[in-house]
Amino acid sequence: MAKLTNYTEKLVKEELKNVLLARGDLCHCRTCQLDIMTHALNKLPPHYVASEGGHIHTMVNMSTSQLKVQVIAALVNAIDAVARHPRHNKRKGLNTVSRK
Ligand SMILES: [Zn+2]
Repeated sequence: MAKLTNYTEKLVKEELKNVLLARGDLCHCRTCQLDIMTHALNKLPPHYVASEGGHIHTMVNMSTSQLKVQVIAALVNAIDAVARHPRHNKRKGLNTVSRK
Protein backbone atom coordinates (compact mmCIF):
# COMPACT_ATOMS: atom_id res chain seq x y z
CA MET A 1 0.00 0.00 0.00
CA ALA A 2 1.41 3.37 -1.02
CA LYS A 3 1.24 6.11 1.56
CA LEU A 4 2.12 9.75 1.89
CA THR A 5 5.38 10.69 3.54
CA ASN A 6 6.50 14.20 4.38
CA TYR A 7 10.02 14.15 3.00
CA THR A 8 10.90 17.28 5.00
CA GLU A 9 10.09 15.41 8.22
CA LYS A 10 12.27 12.49 7.17
CA LEU A 11 15.17 14.86 6.44
CA VAL A 12 14.70 16.70 9.75
CA LYS A 13 14.90 13.41 11.67
CA GLU A 14 18.04 12.33 9.81
CA GLU A 15 19.80 15.66 10.13
CA LEU A 16 18.86 16.07 13.80
CA LYS A 17 20.63 12.77 14.51
CA ASN A 18 23.79 14.07 12.80
CA VAL A 19 23.63 17.41 14.59
CA LEU A 20 23.17 15.76 18.00
CA LEU A 21 26.12 13.46 17.34
CA ALA A 22 28.27 16.50 16.54
CA ARG A 23 27.03 18.56 19.49
CA GLY A 24 27.72 16.71 22.72
CA ASP A 25 26.78 19.82 24.72
CA LEU A 26 23.11 19.60 23.75
CA CYS A 27 20.43 17.80 25.73
CA HIS A 28 19.54 14.55 23.95
CA CYS A 29 16.35 13.73 25.84
CA ARG A 30 13.20 12.87 23.93
CA THR A 31 11.36 16.01 25.03
CA CYS A 32 14.08 18.27 23.64
CA GLN A 33 14.42 16.26 20.43
CA LEU A 34 10.68 16.47 19.81
CA ASP A 35 10.68 20.19 20.60
CA ILE A 36 13.53 20.77 18.14
CA MET A 37 11.75 18.76 15.42
CA THR A 38 8.42 20.55 16.03
CA HIS A 39 10.09 23.94 15.94
CA ALA A 40 12.05 23.20 12.76
CA LEU A 41 9.15 21.54 10.91
CA ASN A 42 6.84 24.48 11.58
CA LYS A 43 9.34 26.73 9.80
CA LEU A 44 9.87 24.46 6.81
CA PRO A 45 7.71 23.80 3.76
CA PRO A 46 6.34 20.24 3.68
CA HIS A 47 7.30 18.04 0.72
CA TYR A 48 4.87 15.17 0.45
CA VAL A 49 5.92 12.20 -1.61
CA ALA A 50 4.23 8.87 -2.30
CA SER A 51 6.12 5.97 -0.83
CA GLU A 52 5.60 2.24 -0.97
CA GLY A 53 6.92 -0.03 1.74
CA GLY A 54 9.08 2.82 3.01
CA HIS A 55 10.68 3.28 -0.39
CA ILE A 56 10.31 6.75 -1.86
CA HIS A 57 10.27 6.62 -5.64
CA THR A 58 9.10 10.07 -6.70
CA MET A 59 12.21 11.99 -5.67
CA VAL A 60 13.92 12.01 -9.05
CA ASN A 61 13.18 15.60 -10.01
CA MET A 62 13.33 17.16 -6.58
CA SER A 63 16.28 19.18 -5.45
CA THR A 64 17.08 17.48 -2.17
CA SER A 65 20.31 19.36 -1.58
CA GLN A 66 18.48 22.69 -1.50
CA LEU A 67 15.92 21.30 0.93
CA LYS A 68 18.74 19.91 3.06
CA VAL A 69 20.28 23.37 3.40
CA GLN A 70 16.92 24.74 4.56
CA VAL A 71 16.49 21.86 7.01
CA ILE A 72 19.91 22.38 8.60
CA ALA A 73 19.32 26.15 8.92
CA ALA A 74 15.92 25.53 10.57
CA LEU A 75 17.47 22.94 12.91
CA VAL A 76 20.17 25.37 14.04
CA ASN A 77 17.49 27.97 14.90
CA ALA A 78 15.32 25.36 16.60
CA ILE A 79 18.23 24.07 18.71
CA ASP A 80 18.99 27.62 19.87
CA ALA A 81 15.36 28.23 20.82
CA VAL A 82 14.99 24.92 22.68
CA ALA A 83 18.36 25.26 24.43
CA ARG A 84 17.29 28.67 25.73
CA HIS A 85 13.90 27.44 26.97
CA PRO A 86 14.11 23.70 27.64
CA ARG A 87 10.87 22.12 28.84
CA HIS A 88 12.27 18.78 30.10
CA ASN A 89 12.58 19.84 33.75
CA LYS A 90 8.91 20.77 33.98
CA ARG A 91 7.65 17.45 32.72
CA LYS A 92 9.49 14.73 34.63
CA GLY A 93 8.58 11.29 33.40
CA LEU A 94 6.20 12.72 30.86
CA ASN A 95 7.20 12.60 27.24
CA THR A 96 3.97 13.87 25.78
CA VAL A 97 4.05 16.86 23.48
CA SER A 98 1.56 19.57 24.32
CA ARG A 99 -0.79 20.44 21.49
CA LYS A 100 -1.25 24.08 20.73
ZN1 LIG B 1 16.10 17.75 27.43
